[in-house]
Amino acid sequence: MRRVREHVSAGRIELKFRHQASRLIRINGRITGVAGEILEPSTVERGQKSGRAVVGDSEVSAGAVLVTSGGIGGNFELVRKNWPRDRLGPPPKNMVASVPHHVDGRMVAIAQQAGAVVINGDRMWHYTEGVKNWAPIWPNHGIHILPGPSSLWFDARGNRLPVPCLPGFDTLSTLKTILASRYDYSWFVLTQSIRPTAP
Ligand SMILES: Cc1cc2nc3c(=O)[nH]c(=O)nc-3n(C[C@H](O)[C@H](O)[C@H](O)COP(=O)(O)OP(=O)(O)OC[C@H]3O[C@@H](n4cnc5c(N)ncnc54)[C@H](O)[C@@H]3O)c2cc1C
Repeated sequence: MRRVREHVSAGRIELKFRHQASRLIRINGRITGVAGEILEPSTVERGQKSGRAVVGDSEVSAGAVLVTSGGIGGNFELVRKNWPRDRLGPPPKNMVASVPHHVDGRMVAIAQQAGAVVINGDRMWHYTEGVKNWAPIWPNHGIHILPGPSSLWFDARGNRLPVPCLPGFDTLSTLKTILASRYDYSWFVLTQSIRPTAP
């Protein structure tokens, strides 16, 4: 971020907060810019969704356009649609979100409509040591326990999870094992001294 700020100060980068890209402009087969909306300033309380009311339009043209809009983790509909059912079985009924709702993946479809080819849509990563944040920063905020190797982990029926389902180790194998138990929760037993958390 420090380097970005230096470029901003030098006039090489312009940051456009509350600008939502909604369309890639295509002229003669070439992407020449981005169009979208300017959203109302956000003053929402912690744990609330920021507003999406539109207060203006925006359009930027450029010699090259890179889409770097991040993932889909804030959009459970898209997560469920892309879920790797063949590898993991059906998705859990209950999930918490480790990213805010604006990580909505809508640019993926927008880029596709403009001609982009999307690959590996089902390659997703989920932390299984997630618990609901009691003081959420965004709705349904999940917080990840940094477990250390000494926590004990059991499925819903009290069976100890097998290797490689160790805390902080192979999270996708752990997810598969928990889902195979047909319950979408597990028991994670740890002490005060091994319970630090990350956002
Ligand atoms: C809980 C958690 C812990 C993590 N821990 C680590 C870690 O310890 N180490 C590590 O290396 N990685 C970690 N990661 C992963 C890492 O944070 C991501 O891989 C990385 O941030 C992805 O960067 P990105 O630039 O692709 O997307 P993002 O950082 O998500 O950036 C995308 C940006 O695009 C904006 N955007 C999206 N759509 C639009 C639109 N339509 N119009 C305008 N703007 C838009 C978003 O607002 C956002 O600012 C963690 C992730 C999570 C969720």
